Amino acid sequence: MNTSYWERQSFLETFDVVVVGGGIAGLSTAIALKNKNIDLEIAVLERSWLSDGASSKNAGFACFGSISEFVDDMKDMSFDEVVNLGVRRFRGIEKLVENYSEDVLKLDWNGGHELFFEEDKESFIQCCKLVEKFNDAFDLKIGLRPYTVSTESEFQGILNLVGVISNKYEGGLNTGAMLRAMVERALKTGVKVFNGVEVNSFQANGNEMQVETSVGIWKSRRLAFCISSFHAHLFEELEMQTKRNQVIVTKPIPDLKLNGTFHHQEGYNYFRNIDGRILMGGMRHLFPYTESTDVQGNTEEVIASLLDFVQQKIHTTSAIEIDLAWSGILGVGQDERPVVTEAQENVFVGARLGGIGVAIGSLIGEELAGLIASSFSK
Ligand SMILES: Cc1cc2nc3c(=O)[nH]c(=O)nc-3n(C[C@H](O)[C@H](O)[C@H](O)COP(=O)(O)OP(=O)(O)OC[C@H]3O[C@@H](n4cnc5c(N)ncnc54)[C@H](O)[C@@H]3O)c2cc1C
Repeated sequence: MNTSYWERQSFLETFDVVVVGGGIAGLSTAIALKNKNIDLEIAVLERSWLSDGASSKNAGFACFGSISEFVDDMKDMSFDEVVNLGVRRFRGIEKLVENYSEDVLKLDWNGGHELFFEEDKESFIQCCKLVEKFNDAFDLKIGLRPYTVSTESEFQGILNLVGVISNKYEGGLNTGAMLRAMVERALKTGVKVFNGVEVNSFQANGNEMQVETSVGIWKSRRLAFCISSFHAHLFEELEMQTKRNQVIVTKPIPDLKLNGTFHHQEGYNYFRNIDGRILMGGMRHLFPYTESTDVQGNTEEVIASLLDFVQQKIHTTSAIEIDLAWSGILGVGQDERPVVTEAQENVFVGARLGGIGVAIGSLIGEELAGLIASSFSK
């Protein structure tokens, strides 16, 4: 490594905290920590030119959970745990909006709607029975009754429905604008952000962590990994897995009636309107073999399934054509709960944010920053 004396002194040996990963979790952690303790020298090391996992590649739903998703979650978690996770997502969205504002995030509170088609009839009946139970539980915790049922056969241009469960406290935002605002906030707060630095390994050396990266050895008193589920081998006990999620955006559709964020089948399929177009993602559950990867890339079969869904279910008189397709990589675990922990002495992890990191990410950052800050006062 061609490192100068000056570079080593001013960059590689300067930091109290090195945060690995420049996505929502990493940036939120660094900013929250700097806000708690202005004196801490904090660096974010991001391997790519921009966050390269999910943070600006997602669908931008500000959502805290659909009923069929909660039912699915209850296979691994109790009712109370599921509600508590929903509440954390709600609080995360609140925090995100409080930190950056609706205007900056380009947030549109146009509602979240879970759709049930003929083939989902059984699920609709089961979910309807639980609507008031979830409303009561959320009412107790956040003072809101989010869910309402309707049995329209056509809803905002979506055809052949048996029913819809709506949540008026949900909406959509622009996650490119969000990530840009987070990077700007980090720099303004005094956090240093370094792109193009990949962390390969680390080891403790007394009270100091030595971080081996693509540009040399960095030294730091604390280390925080906010790497979704990349490099999962570093923390095998956390059982982190990567899943690829495909997204498409159509060309503008002149007579599009759609207005909202829409979920289908436990949140595996999702779509929304944006700038007169449809953005749709998901279907990874139908392609578990190809989509269990941490490699970005498009899968033609998934793209075809997404397009087929849009063409079958959404009413338009004009042809629907794809303008852009991309993928993002999700970090998931055995259940939906994110990880916020001190994995070993002075090494912290905020990861596995799953498909709801936009919603919960700001809260995870606060929680992880709290853990790191208190480790300095031990
Ligand atoms: C297609 C898609 C749609 C989604 N839709 C929504 C949605 O609508 N609403 C919602 O709430 N959530 C959604 N999500 C989930 C949300 O985007 C993620 O949960 C969230 O972005 C995770 O943030 P993160 O910071 O944990 O991870 P990431 O954004 O993946 O950031 C981790 C960063 O770590 C970097 N990194 C990894 N390894 C290293 C290393 N060794 N050294 C240096 N850097 C490293 C990566 O390059 C990456 O930038 C979606 C996800 C996808 C993929």
